[in-house]
Amino acid sequence: MCIPSLQEMDAGGETDTSGESSNTVALGLQHKYRETVLILSTNRCAMYCRHCFRKRTVGASESEVNRNFLETVRYISEHEEVSNVLISGGDSLMMSNRMIERYLNAFTDMEHLDFIRFGTRIPVVMPDRVRNDPELQEIFGKSSKKKQIYIVTQFNHPREVTEEALDCIRIFQKLGIIIRNQSVLLKGVNDSPELLGELFRKLTAIGVIPYYVFQCRPVRGVKNQFQVPIEKGAWIIDQAKSMQNGPGNVSVTVCHSLREKWKYSESRTIGRCCSNSIRQRITRTAAGSLQWNFSLTNVGLIRSHDQIIR
Ligand code: SF4
Repeated sequence: MCIPSLQEMDAGGETDTSGESSNTVALGLQHKYRETVLILSTNRCAMYCRHCFRKRTVGASESEVNRNFLETVRYISEHEEVSNVLISGGDSLMMSNRMIERYLNAFTDMEHLDFIRFGTRIPVVMPDRVRNDPELQEIFGKSSKKKQIYIVTQFNHPREVTEEALDCIRIFQKLGIIIRNQSVLLKGVNDSPELLGELFRKLTAIGVIPYYVFQCRPVRGVKNQFQVPIEKGAWIIDQAKSMQNGPGNVSVTVCHSLREKWKYSESRTIGRCCSNSIRQRITRTAAGSLQWNFSLTNVGLIRSHDQIIR
């Protein structure tokens, strides 16, 4: 997942597919949803995934990285409607221990914050960053006694659930930290119900809640290599979910700007896309095959895809 491919030279797609520039209230500080503030704490990563949706900045440019710690803390302390902070990047655990501690000290002291989240693939791709660093463990342990901390990580394939990753997860769990997983659905990597089903089972077995699967966004250099059509992706996830018990029942999520017209239909909500719900309807055609329709509230039509399922 970190080896470049010539397919990345394809010019299709966009650089900022989530409209991050329009949610930025200060350098490296985004306030999109009323209750959540997101910090781009670094542009460094341990992995540099080829499918990264922040390819425009991660490992490339520091122009969007949060530089003003005091301004960030002041903004959040003055916005009492904010109930949680997501420290992301890049990989937030690529920051120095000192910087992680500064953020934690500031946020654990804010009464209006319910919890703090760290977006990181470190448990998957560089677990020794945690396993071999008692100081970092102590920093997290101390803060987690004051405020609930979540690690939001990204396992995409069952083979990534290694002994070392498990060890790292166990360390966080012992410190009282909750681990949740967001996978990205990737063509040629994990776009099969069996594989995703196995991943969800493995994660729930180690106490990691697989709560989202993201549609791979139409990012330039990513889209044409990794994107699975949303309707096919939702079908894959639905099948994977049918192999789970309660905690393995993830949501499918799309979080990029919607440029296409999607067909509206309705039945049940299977996920969300920004402020839109993704609705799914399954019908049996006269010929007897199943037809799957997907729609987004407020947006429009999505085509059905019985041919894809066959
Ligand atoms: S770990 Fe996350 S931020 Fe870093 S390259 Fe991978 S997807 Fe991008």
